[in-house]
Amino acid sequence: MDIIKGRQTQILTKGEGPDKIACEKKSLAGSVSQRACAFCGARVVLYPIADALHLIHGPVGCAAYTWDIRGALSSGPQIHRLSFTTDLKEKEVVFGGEAKLYGALTYLIEKYHPKAAFVYSTCIVGIIGDDVEAICRKVGKEKGIDVFPVMSEGFNGTKKDGYKIACSTLSRLVGTNNDFTPSKPSINILGDFNLAGEFWILSDYYRKMGVDIISCLTGDGRVDEIRKAHKAALNVVQCSGSMMHLAKDMKEKYNIPFMKVSYFGIEDMSEALYEVARFFKSGEMMDNARQLVRDELQQLLPALQQYRVKLEGKKAAIYVGGAFKAISLVKALRLIGIKTVVVGSQTGNADDYKLLKDLCDEGTIIVDDSNPNELSGFVQLTGADLFIGGVKERPIAYKLGLGFCDHNHERKEALAGYEGMLNLCLCL
Ligand code: SF4
Repeated sequence: MDIIKGRQTQILTKGEGPDKIACEKKSLAGSVSQRACAFCGARVVLYPIADALHLIHGPVGCAAYTWDIRGALSSGPQIHRLSFTTDLKEKEVVFGGEAKLYGALTYLIEKYHPKAAFVYSTCIVGIIGDDVEAICRKVGKEKGIDVFPVMSEGFNGTKKDGYKIACSTLSRLVGTNNDFTPSKPSINILGDFNLAGEFWILSDYYRKMGVDIISCLTGDGRVDEIRKAHKAALNVVQCSGSMMHLAKDMKEKYNIPFMKVSYFGIEDMSEALYEVARFFKSGEMMDNARQLVRDELQQLLPALQQYRVKLEGKKAAIYVGGAFKAISLVKALRLIGIKTVVVGSQTGNADDYKLLKDLCDEGTIIVDDSNPNELSGFVQLTGADLFIGGVKERPIAYKLGLGFCDHNHERKEALAGYEGMLNLCLCL
């Protein structure tokens, strides 16, 4: 199979050729990477803060591209889903867009009374040089709310750079309320986006164990909860690609330790509960966790068996944003008899890929920052029966006539937790 020159080092086949994969590189020009821009990365992370105003300073296309980008559900306010934009046109590109930004921001704050506002700077704003920070400061002062500039011009880097920009913005909000003392052992959840209500499933598990969640910063988020997130004893981080920067920042500033977990598949979901109980060194919490896992598995395992009978021997291709999810999926699929023959991610690092390589069977193709051409070729080469990916992988699967399971963005099925494992089988 032909691979573009310069991409070879980001692909390996377990058991053949080089042992290590190159990763965390800028996408190669001409490769048509599946990755999105820095603005998109920042938008993904901050979008689920449901009582904040999110204003995209740029052309309408940037807003349309990221409109409701995560199906992050809210149990209350829905302002986050409205995708406001200053809709910059030729006039503002020539004469500047600050006046339009000021007008839009003032109008929206008066109309919606958000708890805070985020203003995203897009490519053209970086080029024309609007002073977004100054406008945010001015409006924030006039309206008496925090208005955060998110300097996420798309050309600033990849989606992963956008994650970092969003984390730096969140870091300015965390710690702004000190008048709070947690009454129970408490954690923050970082990197769960409450897709299809997954955070609600997880919060129920932790509540049954006796753990409080102060804030889920990236799902069903609230400004006031994030302000006091620095009072938690532990940060539990999923989708480490998006939130590790904030977890490390909070460790440095507030000495809050963090742990990386995954909520996908039985093994990793259970370990995410046990790890938290181990952290708090609580026998009672561990007993509660074990009881919860026992209860869930008692119902789940017989139900999975019927799917295993049908799915045994099928081959899967996986291409997702974060490598931690890919690792969990390989394990979850193995449990129901499916072999992973292609697996890759947009943002994995060397440690993630080592874990993946150790986990996968001989002959599995592992790929970093892939493109549609490569993915189509790998699927045909390995004879995969189904593809697990996101919105940009869907056309590949459809065109090649494969079964497709959407594990990203706008999906409506919860795939995390024990009920998520069953839903995954239903999708396959
Ligand atoms: S690359 Fe630039 S113009 Fe395109 S969506 Fe991202 S911010 Fe907007």
